[in-house]
Amino acid sequence: MFLELFGGIACLDFANTLDGRATARPEESLRSYADLSDWSAYAGLIDPATAARLQRRGTDADLRTAVVLREAIFEVFAAVGRKQTAPTAALATVQSHYAEAMAAARLVPTEPGYDWQFTGDDPARAWWPAAVSAIRLLTDGPLNRVKVCAAQAGCIGLFLDTSKNRSRRWCTMDGCGIEAKIQRQASRRRAARHT
Ligand SMILES: [Zn+2]
Repeated sequence: MFLELFGGIACLDFANTLDGRATARPEESLRSYADLSDWSAYAGLIDPATAARLQRRGTDADLRTAVVLREAIFEVFAAVGRKQTAPTAALATVQSHYAEAMAAARLVPTEPGYDWQFTGDDPARAWWPAAVSAIRLLTDGPLNRVKVCAAQAGCIGLFLDTSKNRSRRWCTMDGCGIEAKIQRQASRRRAARHT
């Protein structure tokens, strides 16, 4: 029921929960708090049992807080993907959400090192890992692999290009990749007719 996770990293997957942003009909995956906690479990940020518990407490206000973070993450990484400077206000929003997440985080031993862990039933737990993921990507990179889907239809989905020669241009090969191919073929046919 949710969009394929093509972002390659939690924060970009989160940003992509509003799909087709530059089209006439953007598709919103997060219409309620239940959508948010379900998506968070779907994306592996929380486990399904936690999602079910959070759902009983989450409100529309919790959803709005999450969406504010999502939009800021999108603005920041869309700028990064376009080799522009991230807007200061969006950076500040990501930073303040991250600070809130960190206030609730516990450092625990994991294999092979230590990592942040979230426990409890605060509804904000559904987005905390996305805030951590965004700050990690910003501070540790690889920022030069952050890309904006090149589809002309206006997808502008964000993804981490992990291909060896950094040649990935589209969010998904069977979605925007196919559309771009069809458009190329159509314009080649048009060009052929005019010669
Ligand atoms: Zn796309």
